[in-house]
Amino acid sequence: MNLRKKTFERDDFTCQKCSTSQNAKLEAHHINLRSMGGKNELNNLITLCSICHYLAPNGKESFATYIAEKIDGNILNSFRKYKNSIAERTTFGMERKFQEGEAITKPPLGYIMINKKLIIEEQNAARVRSMYALFLEGDLSLTKLAKIHSVSVNGLKKILSNRAYLGEVKFAGKGSKGTHKVLLDSELFEQVQQKLRTEYSIKD
Ligand SMILES: [Zn+2]
Repeated sequence: MNLRKKTFERDDFTCQKCSTSQNAKLEAHHINLRSMGGKNELNNLITLCSICHYLAPNGKESFATYIAEKIDGNILNSFRKYKNSIAERTTFGMERKFQEGEAITKPPLGYIMINKKLIIEEQNAARVRSMYALFLEGDLSLTKLAKIHSVSVNGLKKILSNRAYLGEVKFAGKGSKGTHKVLLDSELFEQVQQKLRTEYSIKD
């Protein structure tokens, strides 16, 4: 049984703040947040409804106070009706961060990160462009081309199919327009994708 389900069972499928058990999407909330080093284990998890989860404070001590102050779940029902808008807003916020490059940790080859923004780094950008051109025009195998540029074959495949070079960012599996500069001509990019698909069965 997974940890999430174990948490719910231990807490009798009831929000530990407002005691709601029905009409509430339950969350297994990390008391000590994972981003702050909290462990993914049963004694660090507690069942909360989505509203109480959303409003929970960070930090073990403030959380202890928060959870000790019980509230009547019925008064939250008005919010529950619209709880999807909370999720939408959170997703929207993350998407915006992503578009602004804030959520990108490692810049693709050819870019460097300055003040959380992707900036083209000309020397490596030229390398990337030459990889695309050589792959398309030359009769070099991926292995040979990887060797020439001292990257792994897998690394090369990633470079040759990275839509970040078109100025796109990927969030939750779908691409959208980012704010960084385009590094490659989109026609060249598409030709390379075509060749990857037909000759190597690689899809981006
Ligand atoms: Zn609750």
